[in-house]
Amino acid sequence: MYSIKRTSLKNLSERDQKHIWHPLTQHKLHPKMLGIVKAKGAVLYDEDGKSYLDGISSWYTSAYGHCNDHIIEKVYGQMQQLDQVVFSGFTHEPAVRLSEELIKVLPENQAKVFFSDNGSTATEIGIKMALQYHFNKGNKRHVMLAFENGFHGDTFGAMSVSGLSVYNGPFEEFFIDVERIPIPTSENIDETLSWLKQRLEKQDIAGFIYEPLVQGAAAMQMYAATHLSKIIALLQKNDVITVADEVMTGFGKTGTFFASDQIAVKPDVMCMSKALTAGLLPMAITACSQKIFDAFYSDDIGKGLFHAHTYSANPLACTAALAGLELLQSNEMRANIERVIKSHERFEQKIKGHPMVARTRQCGIIFALDLAVEMERYGNLRDQLFHFFMENGVFLRPLGNTIYISAPYITTDAQLQQIYEAIEGALAIIR
Ligand SMILES: *Cc1c(COP(=O)(O)O)cnc(C)c1O
Repeated sequence: MYSIKRTSLKNLSERDQKHIWHPLTQHKLHPKMLGIVKAKGAVLYDEDGKSYLDGISSWYTSAYGHCNDHIIEKVYGQMQQLDQVVFSGFTHEPAVRLSEELIKVLPENQAKVFFSDNGSTATEIGIKMALQYHFNKGNKRHVMLAFENGFHGDTFGAMSVSGLSVYNGPFEEFFIDVERIPIPTSENIDETLSWLKQRLEKQDIAGFIYEPLVQGAAAMQMYAATHLSKIIALLQKNDVITVADEVMTGFGKTGTFFASDQIAVKPDVMCMSKALTAGLLPMAITACSQKIFDAFYSDDIGKGLFHAHTYSANPLACTAALAGLELLQSNEMRANIERVIKSHERFEQKIKGHPMVARTRQCGIIFALDLAVEMERYGNLRDQLFHFFMENGVFLRPLGNTIYISAPYITTDAQLQQIYEAIEGALAIIR
């Protein structure tokens, strides 16, 4: 009795420290987590009642706002009908309908969807599709091509192709073979293309994985669609399977449905997660063209894609995704996206001349600025900035000297203003 009572006196943050091991955390340096008890729209509420604007949509997931009534209602309905069933040998309405609705909005060459649980599994499956495509065709290729500083997730295949290796040290010797090219610029595109032309002669590159237009974890590095298009076209001509990792960029972030919509040459494979299920449930999809599917279609059972997750195509997650698609296609949400884009454009004009701002950039609803100071990715100054924002009721997660905004589309003008003011306030305190 007594001990139960004592436990209940502690807050979430204190109870957390007893048994929980957090992601991306060195517990000795950062032992305290903030207890969040509620979320609605663009706002998070902590256990002391303080509120925070979710300036990064909880890692780009809650694009239409937290605890969205439309999504909750649809999922609640589905919960009473069918909760979960094995997806190997069985199918169900939410998965079938999601495949139909998604194919309508994906680039025209996309034909099949493969379900999994999260962004890392989505890219892992994309990598497997690329490798096994060539294996099935009887000419094994063992190299994956990727961009420098890309991020594709934390499972082994995904980690291998990720170029942000700061924390991958213990595992590097177990990685699959990967070669890297820089993200394209007007200065390096010709050199990259001619290097690739030569490199492709060996015919050992199975696939190319890339974050189209915006590299999220690399602190929102942005690059032009025209250059990327040339790279994809050259690779496809050489039967290299191109895998667009749209886990972050998908579902409206870049101003179009997918970033790939802005790129002339369409990918063979597309990875989706994060906003796919509108922040309500975890799920991912790896979509592909008919050409990929056909390479696995055979009388030989071994040529199938033998990959499964227990919760593949969970009916509730599929329902959340369907409700999210409805919202994204509504006039109201499109207007919201346009409004946020315009608002960021005005803020960019205002802030870009500030002496503490080295560089600004924007792609769709994603806005980023680099501070004119050197900072470690997760160093002390970065932590100070983070705490300054939180004290001012804004949740932003600076990456090194980059501050970026990727707020829910429904964030109001007044709320956007509060985020901008917090950033201006931060510029005033750093030196
Ligand atoms: C977040 C992310 C992933 C990994 O997704 P998880 O769900 O965290 O495993 C992969 N690729 C990109 C581009 C991402 O932003």
